[in-house]
Amino acid sequence: MYDLSHQNSLKLQSTAETYLEFSNTDELVEISKNYGLEQGNFCVIGEGTNSIFPISFKNIVLKAMGKDIKIINSHENILIEVSAGLEWDDLIDFCCEKNFYGLENLAGIPGTVGAAPVQNIGAYGKEVSENISKIEVFDIKQKTLKYIDNEECKFSYRDSFFKKNKHLIITSVFFSLSSIFNANLSYRDLQNKSFSSAQALINFIRKIRLKKIPDRISYPNLGSFFKNPIIGKKSFNKNPKLSKLTSLSASPDKVKLSAGEIIESLGLKGMRINGCGMSAQHALVLVCTGFCNANDIRRVEKTVKEIVFNEYQINLETEPFYL
Ligand SMILES: Cc1cc2nc3c(=O)[nH]c(=O)nc-3n(C[C@H](O)[C@H](O)[C@H](O)COP(=O)(O)OP(=O)(O)OC[C@H]3O[C@@H](n4cnc5c(N)ncnc54)[C@H](O)[C@@H]3O)c2cc1C
Repeated sequence: MYDLSHQNSLKLQSTAETYLEFSNTDELVEISKNYGLEQGNFCVIGEGTNSIFPISFKNIVLKAMGKDIKIINSHENILIEVSAGLEWDDLIDFCCEKNFYGLENLAGIPGTVGAAPVQNIGAYGKEVSENISKIEVFDIKQKTLKYIDNEECKFSYRDSFFKKNKHLIITSVFFSLSSIFNANLSYRDLQNKSFSSAQALINFIRKIRLKKIPDRISYPNLGSFFKNPIIGKKSFNKNPKLSKLTSLSASPDKVKLSAGEIIESLGLKGMRINGCGMSAQHALVLVCTGFCNANDIRRVEKTVKEIVFNEYQINLETEPFYL
């Protein structure tokens, strides 16, 4: 039995009967043959920073360990290929050191490069999909390596086609970057600021993230637990209760609301059921403060969703994955 309690950000007790690591595609092909993965009897994990682990995994647990960075083109239109097992924030440091620009606003997000496209990680006015040119995957059903280009990934807000295509294991990600630093200051916390270098912007973002998000050691968490709801402008205008909430235009006919503000407006910031609940520091972050498991988390999730729906007729969507 393999203990995975220290490999998930919520620090949930979790074990797997079979846990296998692969460093490259050859090793993955070998594992696939030996364990008959085409039956779908597996689950891939990264750092477990966006996942709710079960007490015991029924399936084989696989983890990408490769951390290579290959520079394919280092002039003007920079192109790099990065193995799935590299820590996301190590990639941020590597790019900054090499003067490869474009990913600065995503500094400080935990997790691996391989998981980043799955939910199209985003922060501070930026989504990773903006810099992904293609993705190398091992297709477990067809037992072959494939390249999926940006358009095929069907990226949208915290979503991609990988969420519904679990037979594709991401082995590396190709990033298109720029040789010119052009700070993206579109997000409200960055407006009216100026940064003389990418490093200065990265440092600033890492600092505000540390202040805003509860410390993961004292308050194990997965970052935002719910997506910010995007609703039609017509429904928004018809519902007078929503007018007191902050809204941003998401498209000509849609508005984006803040899930954190919605939760806080209903007095749910700091609520607890057994060993978990919504953080008293940041209403959008679910924290585990005692012994709890996936069922306790589902209870908090269901309670918050019901209270929000009853008040605002909005269906909150959960961001992390139950594995
Ligand atoms: C404190 C904190 C702050 C956060 N802030 C942000 C933020 O600002 N923005 C944001 O978008 N997210 C944020 N997150 C969520 C999380 O960091 C990201 O979603 C991250 O990409 C998850 O990486 P991981 O390696 O931990 O993935 P895991 O949680 O291990 O896996 C996530 C999903 O990806 C799948 N997966 C993992 N690796 C592969 C692979 N190689 N091939 C195919 N599927 C794979 C898993 O099966 C699972 O479904 C935050 C989390 C925490 C704890």
